[in-house]
Amino acid sequence: MINIKDKKDCCGCSACAQKCPKACITMVEDHEGFLYPQVDAALCIDCGWCEKVCPLLNLPEKIQPQEVLAVKNRNEEERMASSSGGVFIALAKKALEKGGVVFGAVFDGNWEVKHTYAETIEGVRKMMGSKYVQSRIGDSYRDAERFLKEGREVLFTGTPCQITGLHKFLRKDYPNLLPVDFLCHGVPSPGVWRKYLDETFIHPARRAAAGKNTVLSSSLKSVPVITGIEFRDKKMHGWKKFSFVVRGSASKADKNSVLLSDIHNVNPYMRGFLSDIYLRPSCYQCKCKNGVSHSDLTIADFWGLKMSDVDDDKGIGMVLIHTEKGREIFETLDMEVSHSTLETAKRFNGGFNENVTPHPKRRIFYKKLSKGVPVESAVKMALHVPVYRKIYNKIRGLFKKLI
Ligand SMILES: Cc1cc2nc3c(=O)[nH]c(=O)nc-3n(C[C@H](O)[C@H](O)[C@H](O)COP(=O)(O)OP(=O)(O)OC[C@H]3O[C@@H](n4cnc5c(N)ncnc54)[C@H](O)[C@@H]3O)c2cc1C
Ligand code: SF4
Ligand code: SF4
Ligand code: SF4
Repeated sequence: MINIKDKKDCCGCSACAQKCPKACITMVEDHEGFLYPQVDAALCIDCGWCEKVCPLLNLPEKIQPQEVLAVKNRNEEERMASSSGGVFIALAKKALEKGGVVFGAVFDGNWEVKHTYAETIEGVRKMMGSKYVQSRIGDSYRDAERFLKEGREVLFTGTPCQITGLHKFLRKDYPNLLPVDFLCHGVPSPGVWRKYLDETFIHPARRAAAGKNTVLSSSLKSVPVITGIEFRDKKMHGWKKFSFVVRGSASKADKNSVLLSDIHNVNPYMRGFLSDIYLRPSCYQCKCKNGVSHSDLTIADFWGLKMSDVDDDKGIGMVLIHTEKGREIFETLDMEVSHSTLETAKRFNGGFNENVTPHPKRRIFYKKLSKGVPVESAVKMALHVPVYRKIYNKIRGLFKKLI
């Protein structure tokens, strides 16, 4: 039976839990806010299925991309509503046209992130945009298998480890499956996200209702109803300086006010994510990136590239074509395309990096959280650089330049 000794050896795909014939594996959240399998040994019949389907115990060979493309969806509205070049929505629409089913990540009723499937354009729109929180896969692999066996086209999108887990769970190739992953920096903790959201929007409003200080507007005297969260808003400051935006009902009159709008490198939650404080342990030594997942296509941001000499700051996507099936489907999309190379793509994108270093204050950060320190303060504490260090860094920089 599955037995996780080192947390970095589990990416949380839940292939094991979905495959277990006795349903004796439960995904349980640990103190860092990530899900891990827990086996009820009394029910286990030692069949070994959980180990057979675990992607990290059965890693596939790496494959190389056949082609690297820089792309823009020609539909500007769709591109603006997407995080990068708008490739996902184009693929999803193509799948729906063929009567297919699309799997991806959405917010649930509590603004936590989960995987689900959609058979309509309304359902697919909810999947658009990167959500920087690990998504709960739930029963998605089982649902996908059912649709595949019925002969439906299935577009399954997710992190490279989720796609590796899907292949291991299915255990055979389906011609009607199109697995698509993205370049993955790593996934932040759902537990930290929940705490941040609660501290920033729910508790301050409760405090305001009780007449105490609040970080939110003083007109906000009740718990706000959040109506939208975008981790990658391009409307405020463009694609490169993307913003983290939360909308909601701050007053009775306005149901869609901007409750919070921060450029990504200012928002405390985003700073903690991008500084690698609360990524999943498996992300610090990722085994599923760079062709291991056997996705047909990998999608990403093409940072650092000027396309057709017109970088309109509305998003340039990257597409890595891994298979002929991926190429055939990609060629049916209405995209502005320019050819590139893996070297150029790698130069500007940290998503290729398999070994992201854990932030040196990761443990202290979690210790602070366990003592009740709010996420925002714990992030600030972890990222604080003392004045003497700043001066030392500056002098060292100048010295290096001189040499
Ligand atoms: C956690 C995370 C880390 C990423 N790291 C990088 C990186 O280092 N470099 C890079 O170039 N790109 C990275 N991306 C991918 C990038 O942000 C875009 O999602 C990608 O370029 C596709 O953009 P798009 O415009 O085609 O479509 P969009 O509409 O922006 O993408 C939506 C797609 O992302 C999926 N998705 C959204 N959130 C999640 C989630 N939490 N878990 C699983 N799937 C999700 C949706 O299901 C859908 O398939 C990351 C995305 C996520 C979610
Ligand atoms: S060995 Fe079989 S029964 Fe036991 S936990 Fe694994 S899959 Fe379930
Ligand atoms: S990586 Fe996936 S299959 Fe393996 S133990 Fe973790 S959740 Fe289970
Ligand atoms: S970095 Fe690797 S382990 Fe972490 S979510 Fe991405 S693919 Fe999975």
